[in-house]
Amino acid sequence: MVNQTLHQHDVMLVADIPLSRSWPSDSRYWWPTSDGVYTFKTGYWLGMLGRERTWQLAFSTIEAPMWKRVWSLQGPPKLRHFIWQACKGSLAVKAQLRHRHIVPDATCQTCGAPDETIIHALFQCPLVDEIWRLSSLVSMVNMAPFSAFADHFLWMMNNATVEEFHLFSTLTWAALLCRNKALFDTSPPSPSLMVVVFCRLVKDYVEYQKKVGSTARNASCGASGSWSKPLVGWVKVNVDAHVSMGNGVRLGVVTRDHDGDVLAATVMRVRSRWEASGAEVAAARYGVGIARRFGLA
Ligand SMILES: [Zn+2]
Repeated sequence: MVNQTLHQHDVMLVADIPLSRSWPSDSRYWWPTSDGVYTFKTGYWLGMLGRERTWQLAFSTIEAPMWKRVWSLQGPPKLRHFIWQACKGSLAVKAQLRHRHIVPDATCQTCGAPDETIIHALFQCPLVDEIWRLSSLVSMVNMAPFSAFADHFLWMMNNATVEEFHLFSTLTWAALLCRNKALFDTSPPSPSLMVVVFCRLVKDYVEYQKKVGSTARNASCGASGSWSKPLVGWVKVNVDAHVSMGNGVRLGVVTRDHDGDVLAATVMRVRSRWEASGAEVAAARYGVGIARRFGLA
């Protein structure tokens, strides 16, 4: 049916779509919504704004560089998660809680300001003011827009150096914890102390990650590409992918025990045009599947 209905080029694109391994039955899916159910609003977007802008509105591809930067921030995963929530506007500050009808008003509990937005809680509340006032970023932070955290973050992302941006993320995190401590702890927080603690925490984490990373690199360099046995009782699964132009992707798996004896080895060809990184992921997934199938994992 695909051959009869579509142009040759489109037939190839359709044939390249990898099928789900779980073979679900076909169903109708409205792509502009994340749950696939039609809504009038998204129908209106599609009609009025066209496909591309609707895609951007629904999946925020316009903000892709921002999300990329959020997830590549140096520091503990909690820091990245917090910044991500702040960018999405989903931190549990009073304005957000009022918006969701959880509390009747948005008054800041620490200073009495009428609207505790994310911007207020992290930059403008007198409680956290000291964090920014005493930092080297003070003039820069005041220049960035305060319309929403995502706008502020984007502005800093485009105007600060890597070091400044790193400090900015750390201080923002310190400001949030300062606010939470004031709300939920009995003792009042010291913003300056909070800054010292958080800068130290992030620095230690980054250094630790570098150390672990270089140890791992040294270990693999030391092996000079040769294969090393797993520990006794363990099974090592090696995987690889080969992408050939116009000829699909080949995935390979070799599983060996602590003596180096091969337990299972297999190759699979997939009709797909994945890029190298996607093919590597598919190979890893295939490797785990094979190990499971043979009762090794
Ligand atoms: Zn306040």
